Amino acid sequence: MKERLQKYMARCGVASRRKCEEIILQGRVTVNGITVNDITIIDDEKDVVKIDGKTIKPETEKIYIMLNKPVGVITSAKDEKNRKTVLDIVKVKERIYPVGRLDYDTSGLLILTNDGEAAYKMTHPSKEIDKVYIARVKGIPTKDEIKNFEAGLKIDDYITSPSKLKIIKSMEKESVLQIIIHEGRNRQVRKMCEKIGHPVIKLKRIRIGKLNLGDLREGEWRNLTESEIDYIK
Ligand code: URA
Repeated sequence: MKERLQKYMARCGVASRRKCEEIILQGRVTVNGITVNDITIIDDEKDVVKIDGKTIKPETEKIYIMLNKPVGVITSAKDEKNRKTVLDIVKVKERIYPVGRLDYDTSGLLILTNDGEAAYKMTHPSKEIDKVYIARVKGIPTKDEIKNFEAGLKIDDYITSPSKLKIIKSMEKESVLQIIIHEGRNRQVRKMCEKIGHPVIKLKRIRIGKLNLGDLREGEWRNLTESEIDYIK
């Protein structure tokens, strides 16, 4: 983007535009190594601007978004099979990325941000943040199956850490479960349900720690509130 040098400097958090003009006139600013003494236009994608020999860069605003991911959407920036991704739904000018992931066939709460530090904190296993899922499964788990599920199951080459399973609704051949886990391994909830003999038919994430999906509808997204941002930072 082409813009006036003093405006670019202000966007980099140097000072106000007027003050930046003064700094330019003092001969302290170089563009691509050449000192500028006058107001000029720069291209922020190509030009290197230095003040007193130090390169300046625009401050990127941190953004935090909650999406209700629909089924049939990939949780990544790009897909080699050209399927729809979450970034085809959430279109913002900042370069954001998903925190953790939901399977193609899972819906629900997904956070997207450009704040690497907050993303790291949210996904670090030591934080033990609750991840709450609603799963519709085949059959109705027995008391013993629930006990085994909650105590820890051997999946692939690991044992799941303690979790919670509650039956919310039971029908003739299916049931709806609330499942709380603290990890986020590949297809973990699906594999755990499968392991106790109740394969998942439908899966949705409704909460991560204090972040609730609430009444956000599938395919809709919103910015996190101030208090939600304080919580994840
Ligand atoms: N567990 C799963 O099996 N799938 C998800 O998308 C999230 C957790």
